[in-house]
Amino acid sequence: MAVCARLCGVGQSGGCRRRGLEDGEEDEVRIEAGPAHSGPRGPRTLLQLPPEILVEIFSSLPGPELPSLAQVCRKFRQILNTDTIWKRRCKQEYGVCENLRKLEVTGVSCRDVYVKLLHQYRHILGLWQPDIGPYGGLLNVVVDGLFIIGWMYLTPHDPHVDEPMRLKPVFRIHLMERKSATVECMYGHKGPHNGQIQIVKKDEFCTKCLQTDYHRMSGGRQEEFRTWLREDLGRTLEDIFHEHMQELILMKFIYICQYDNCLTYRRIYHPLSQPDDLLCPGFFKGTYGSHGLEIVMLSFHGTLAKVTKITGDPNVPACQQTLEIDLTRPVQLPDVEHLRNFDEMSRLVLDVQAQIHREQRLTGSDEEDGREVAAVRGEPGRPLLPVKRPEDKDANKVGAEENDEQEAPAHSFVLPDGVTARSEEYPRSCKMCFYGTGLIAGHGFSSPERTPGLFILFDEDRFGFIWLELKSFSLYSRMRDKFQRADAPSQAAFDEMLQNMQSWTT
Ligand SMILES: [Zn+2]
Repeated sequence: MAVCARLCGVGQSGGCRRRGLEDGEEDEVRIEAGPAHSGPRGPRTLLQLPPEILVEIFSSLPGPELPSLAQVCRKFRQILNTDTIWKRRCKQEYGVCENLRKLEVTGVSCRDVYVKLLHQYRHILGLWQPDIGPYGGLLNVVVDGLFIIGWMYLTPHDPHVDEPMRLKPVFRIHLMERKSATVECMYGHKGPHNGQIQIVKKDEFCTKCLQTDYHRMSGGRQEEFRTWLREDLGRTLEDIFHEHMQELILMKFIYICQYDNCLTYRRIYHPLSQPDDLLCPGFFKGTYGSHGLEIVMLSFHGTLAKVTKITGDPNVPACQQTLEIDLTRPVQLPDVEHLRNFDEMSRLVLDVQAQIHREQRLTGSDEEDGREVAAVRGEPGRPLLPVKRPEDKDANKVGAEENDEQEAPAHSFVLPDGVTARSEEYPRSCKMCFYGTGLIAGHGFSSPERTPGLFILFDEDRFGFIWLELKSFSLYSRMRDKFQRADAPSQAAFDEMLQNMQSWTT
């Protein structure tokens, strides 16, 4: 914050506040050089260096450090007016590669872009979840050319889980004139209009629309509903035959209408990746029956894999942990013929559950039995074989034979009869299966319960889950979008966020 306060003073007419120098008065800044470098003819002070060298030096310093240099003396201040310094800072710190000519037309300098746009709004860059009750969402705020844009990520249309995400801009910030950045709301079909952004506290900000009439349509709510249905869900009223689904969709529309003029966002992190993870953690799209497609986040925690909802529904809201996979409990699938039999598949999973319950009773009755439990469980410390990632292939060329052994062989897969899926288009071979639990609940997240199921790892980008109690199958497919400024600063910070999330929607 102190740095910010200094930076916001750049370019103001205050001059050298630190020493109270008058223009024209030069202050000597000595180079602290050892005897080996201080030859009799070399420059003895920084001020004696040619301006182009100083520009070069200043360009390589972090932007927030520059304002204190401007306070040293008039020469430094003049040199800091060189826009190439700020152009380099914009590029190195925020990836802005726009050409200067475009800026000149609008009369905005690179320093203005750096100070009044990028630095000013740096705290809102990254991934966020809107607080829309149980529905949640995913927002990515990025520097895009000379704009900062908030992109809302919408899932592909149900049930096409492998298709790419759809992006919709919800706000943008730019420099219309030199004075200050302008925030615009992008909702509706009448173009950008006045909005506001307020950083509430660390990792939380609010957007406000100041012209919600731009969201209204001439056909009233009916037209707005139909348009939302078509654009967000890819459907028309006529093609939703299922009465329950109609109800759910209408309920969602009425709910999100409340957030027409004001939305709060909370920061979320992309999970950190470890070399021995079963697959790359990250964001996935998953099928959730009549609730349509939802966004989830896969993360690894020792011997557990957790799948957390980023979007949600009135039964299990966003932020809840939808799946928990026990990576120490692999399930060996039978051949396809036997797999078709639901009871047989179900028995495999329930056997593991019974085993877990037995072990819990043992540890509960006598702590000393810990070792016995470990023996019952088989190989508790057995390292899991990571699925080979494409980028690993070249690196592993040497000793390929050993690695071939590590590659889990593909196993034929088919859904047991009677298990419903949103689509018949699911992979017919898998790498590994594990025991896991899935969270189910009544409307309004009433009586939530973790119920047993089968986690199926298809490949690096897809996994599935069979919900035994619901007799249904969810297919998850990786979001391939790249995110900047989204990684958690540490595993501890990520864990803390996950823990906090649970309280966001309940
Ligand atoms: Zn608006």
